[in-house]
Amino acid sequence: MRDKFNLVDGIIKLKKDRNAIILVHNYQNEEVQQVADFLGDSLDLSRKARDVTEDVIVFCGVNFMAETAKILSPDKVVLLPAKDARCPMADMVTADDVRKQKAFYPKATVVCYVNTTAEVKAECDVCCTSANAVKVVENVPSDTILFFPDRNLAGYVQRFTQKRVIPWPGYCYVHRKFKADEITAAHSTCHGATIVVHPECDPEVIDLADEVRSTGGMVKLAEESEKDRIVVGTEEGMIKRLQREYPEKEFYSLGPARVCVNMKKIRLEDVYQSLLNMQYQVKLPEDTMNRARTSLEKMVQLV
Ligand code: 13P
Ligand code: SF4
Repeated sequence: MRDKFNLVDGIIKLKKDRNAIILVHNYQNEEVQQVADFLGDSLDLSRKARDVTEDVIVFCGVNFMAETAKILSPDKVVLLPAKDARCPMADMVTADDVRKQKAFYPKATVVCYVNTTAEVKAECDVCCTSANAVKVVENVPSDTILFFPDRNLAGYVQRFTQKRVIPWPGYCYVHRKFKADEITAAHSTCHGATIVVHPECDPEVIDLADEVRSTGGMVKLAEESEKDRIVVGTEEGMIKRLQREYPEKEFYSLGPARVCVNMKKIRLEDVYQSLLNMQYQVKLPEDTMNRARTSLEKMVQLV
């Protein structure tokens, strides 16, 4: 068993040998965040993946994120260090579900959250992330939107648009754990703190929060806010990053720490093994990738 320092050294050496870059989502284990070449939210990671110059992308996140990197950079080798790191919400809608809904609403524009499989993206008109969902919906030509798969993000977008947003009943089991009474409790225990939550939270939680942000938006909030106490309603990896980067401020989880089990499947050892054995390579059918790329690129052009 290698210790942490040997692993980090090994990763740095292999990264150079393979001409690789390590992209890491904000919810990853802290030891993995610390070997990131780039750490961010889904939108920033997509942009970064599209523009990389290295030959190999090690993507530390869940599988739809690694797939997105492969779709946007098809000539690169994309590695997901834990083969079974999947987002349960992304698995709540299939390409067939989307086709059936489209048949009911033929004039609607189909917007899908990036938390979807490549097959689902291939059926959509345009993708969005939690950072740009409102702008994407406002910028598409149709007044009726089929929104997949997160009902809470769909409901959040509906607050800001006159268009009709028809949700799919998917949800994130991690964000669903945050409760409105935890906000009431946070107001009394963390007097004067700003309370920020992710738009995947339930509407009653969003109603009471001071701010609603993507994980990238939470980093900006920490940077810009004059408040030195921030209560955060999202996965605990985000809070670890905020504490590390803004040691002069205090960050608290809204309620007990909430963990995305799939995000936590990647450990430092997996990153090392991934680079050593070039595992696990993301492979997708050419046609699916081409169709999914159209939806992803439209998102990047729109906002
Ligand atoms: P962000 O795009 O805000 O990082 O969110 C991704 C995600 O999976 C939230 O659960
Ligand atoms: Fe999926 Fe929720 Fe985990 Fe994000 S936090 S990857 S939406 S299960």
